Parts: sequence; C-alpha cells; structure tokens
Amino acid sequence: MRRKIKYAEHLNTLGELAASMAHEVRNPLTVVKGFLQMVQSGLEGKNRRYIALALAEVDRAERIISDYLNLSRPQIGNTELMDLSGMVQQIVLLLKPMATKQGVRLYTELRNEIYVHMDRNQLLQALIHVTKNAIEAADDGGRVYIKLAIQEEKACLHIRDTGKGMSQEHLERVGTLFFSTKEVGTGLGTVVSFRIIEAMNGSIHYESEPGVGTEVVILLPLAQKSLLAAEG
Ligand code: ADP
Ligand code: MG
Repeated sequence: MRRKIKYAEHLNTLGELAASMAHEVRNPLTVVKGFLQMVQSGLEGKNRRYIALALAEVDRAERIISDYLNLSRPQIGNTELMDLSGMVQQIVLLLKPMATKQGVRLYTELRNEIYVHMDRNQLLQALIHVTKNAIEAADDGGRVYIKLAIQEEKACLHIRDTGKGMSQEHLERVGTLFFSTKEVGTGLGTVVSFRIIEAMNGSIHYESEPGVGTEVVILLPLAQKSLLAAEG
C-alpha cells in the first residue's frame, strides 16, 4: 500500500514536469507547422512531398505532446450522471475512421440504463486509450468487441481484441510508465487510463494470450439510478 502511494506521488511530480514541458514545446511547433503549410502551397513535386513528410512528423510530435499533457490533468473535474451505452457509441464514432484505415472492425454489445456518475471527458479519455490499443494490436482483418454489462453490482466494460496478444512479461508491465512495444509509442496511454479509472474508484484488469488476443475488463461503480432501473 505504501509503495502505491509513493508511486502515485512520483507520477504526479513527473506528470507536472512533463506537462509544463509539453506546453512550452507546443507553441513553437504550431508556428513551425504554420510556416510549413505556407511554403507547401507554393511547391510542387519532390519538394512538396518533403514538406508533407515534415508536416506529418510535426503532427506526430503534437500527438506525443498531448499524451504528456494528459499525464497531469486534474483527475476529476465535473462529474455527471451518464448512460454508458452513449459513451461507448461516442467512442466507436471517434475511432471508426482509425479502425477502418487499419482494416479492423468494431462490434458492440450494448445495454441501456447502466448509469455511472463520472467526469465525462476523463472517462472518455481513458476508454479511448484502451480501445485504441486494442485496434492497434489487431491486424488487418482483426476485430474489436466492446461489451457492456452489470457484473458484481458494478458497471462492466469488456474491450476484447483478436490481436497479437501479450506475453506474461508484457502483461505485468502494461500500465507502467513508458512501457511500449510500439515503434512510435509513448507508453503513456495505459498509465493515464489506469490513473483515471482508479481515481473514479474503478478497476482495470488485463487478460491476454499471445497470438489470440487481449481482453480488458473495466469495472466502475454503478450510479444509484441503474440499480433502480434494474429493479423496476
Ligand atoms: P503505447 O500505445 O503508446 O505503446 P500504452 O500505454 O497505450 O502505450 O500501451 C503500452 C503497451 O501495452 C503497448 O505498447 C502494448 O505493447 C501493450 N498493450 C496495451 N494494450 C494492448 C492490447 N490490447 N493488445 C496487445 N498489447 C497491448
Ligand atoms: Mg496506447
């Protein structure tokens, strides 16, 4: 327990440092991007392609920066009562273009009236990171299933993929700072998700088999309203 508290504190300082750096770097990047776009519009052929490559790299740097900024965002802002099925639909809408581009199909099994009381943006952030990882793990032709249920009197989200899975060693490291097996990964997504879910008194659990896929189970406290809906 003691170790856990220390880890969280450490993460906080590191997160704040990372965020202030990310913030400082973002402004010059925006300027660079603006000028590159200006130059690009007057070019043709090879030079135009070089600028396009430079712009794509600036975009990548911006994405990394936003991961770092998320690391120290205040954990809980405005909480509100919400139906989880709406949130899952929103995630599918947001991630479908990325999935389609990779040849991955998204399936949902929803259930209405599973309410939670949470910070909408934070939860969205956490679920997007987890679902993105599932899509990234699935090869062309792969599938990602998102299922909603009530389990152990908690709201339960299953995010399962038919991707490459994880070895035991990797399973133990998932959710730890900077662990990434991706060429362009930051190893921050799951850290951010774990922190958000823990801050909301939820839990997150991974099961995986190399070559078969991964299943992530997220349990969240149910809002009183769902219990009433289940009874009535
Ligand atoms: P990143 O996506 O930038 O690598 P994350 O913190 O989101 O960082 O994930 C850390 C690592 O955990 C990934 O690089 C990957 O190795 C592993 N991982 C997470 N989710 C999955 C999944 N669904 N299937 C296989 N590996 C996963
Ligand atoms: Mg990720």
